[in-house]
Amino acid sequence: MTSDLVHHGESFDGTPLGFATKSIHLGNGVDAETGAIRRPITLANAYALPYDPSDINWSSSDVNLYTRNGHPNQRYLEAKLANLEGTEDAVVLASGVAALAATFTTLLDRGDHAIFSDTTYIAAYRLLNQILPEKYGIETSIVDTSDPQNIAAAIRPNTKLVHIETPANPTLKVTDIEAAAKLAHDAGALLSVDNTFNSPFNVRPADLGADVVIESLTKYINGHGDALGGAIATRKALTDRIRFTYQVNYGGIISPFNAWLINRGSVTLPLRMRQHNASALAIAKHLESLPQVRFVAYPGLESHPHHDVAARQLARPDAGFGGVLSFGLDTDHDGHNRFVSKLNVITSAVSLGHDESLIVFLGEDDERQYLYPEEFHRGFFRLAVGLEDTDDLIRDIDHAFAEAKL
Ligand SMILES: *Cc1c(COP(=O)(O)O)cnc(C)c1O
Repeated sequence: MTSDLVHHGESFDGTPLGFATKSIHLGNGVDAETGAIRRPITLANAYALPYDPSDINWSSSDVNLYTRNGHPNQRYLEAKLANLEGTEDAVVLASGVAALAATFTTLLDRGDHAIFSDTTYIAAYRLLNQILPEKYGIETSIVDTSDPQNIAAAIRPNTKLVHIETPANPTLKVTDIEAAAKLAHDAGALLSVDNTFNSPFNVRPADLGADVVIESLTKYINGHGDALGGAIATRKALTDRIRFTYQVNYGGIISPFNAWLINRGSVTLPLRMRQHNASALAIAKHLESLPQVRFVAYPGLESHPHHDVAARQLARPDAGFGGVLSFGLDTDHDGHNRFVSKLNVITSAVSLGHDESLIVFLGEDDERQYLYPEEFHRGFFRLAVGLEDTDDLIRDIDHAFAEAKL
């Protein structure tokens, strides 16, 4: 279905195109009916059947049949993402969590064992720590994957999957993807990487040996805070299985409108990532210099314990360490909330990778505190640095410190 795409990531003379050119052109093309140079949004639920439909496989996702079986806006986005991640194929689903659930439920059978990072997105933790073990008899081990020795120690004869999130949400711990891939492969297991905090502009896990790359498209790839989506970039044999199970039969398909919005948003991914990277580094350094700030966790800082690993993993010379950092203040619970209430530019809301900066206070009662490094135990902020002028963000932070009398 993607044969009508105008490009396959190579220029007229066969040299590979750059990241920005591909972000713009892949998945776009001339609409055959109108000549429009933007792909339309195809919202129909169903497609015309052939003269004799009786031999159609109703679970197939290779033909235009019914929107849950796959649709053009999904396929245009998939073609772009597979190329940007450097994988054979990609499947785009309704949300990042749908992509995580699709990966786990497709790759793990009853009696299999999975190892996963001690810091992950909350839904990955719920699925692997509770739902899959309780409902489907899957064994799991939660380990600090930032030390590969812990992965090695947790491997069992039935280990089928190692799932890592790097940098991890919200501790910003970094895992060595190459080392994790080698340990997984030596044990006959696959490695899946949640690459949401990096986006393929900063890190390409497949180049470092990962078998499955998961992105919440909701975040940097869409970039505008107005659509949910998720992607799994991997081998065609696996995307075929995921389409059959999770997309068609569990129903995790993305809507055509969201796929179209995310495709549009992704056009500016490289420009936005450069700004997120530069601004987050400047703000992390500024916070680190303030006496009210107890700690700053950002992989771009030399003080970060995994800075060298993070730097080694960058996909290109102009890549950076992402737009998310965590920090804690030398104050109590109320002091943290007072600080947020005095911010004018930065918004108190969850999510990240939006155009606007977002902050969330994670208090000392968070149920996963026991898994976080000690400095996080007294409460902390996760700050997702947006695309505003860096100076405005720094002045907003300084002004809030003064107003909150911290
Ligand atoms: C937000 C997020 C997800 C979940 O994505 P949704 O699109 O909200 O379902 C998964 N992993 C990470 C690291 C995230 O930040």
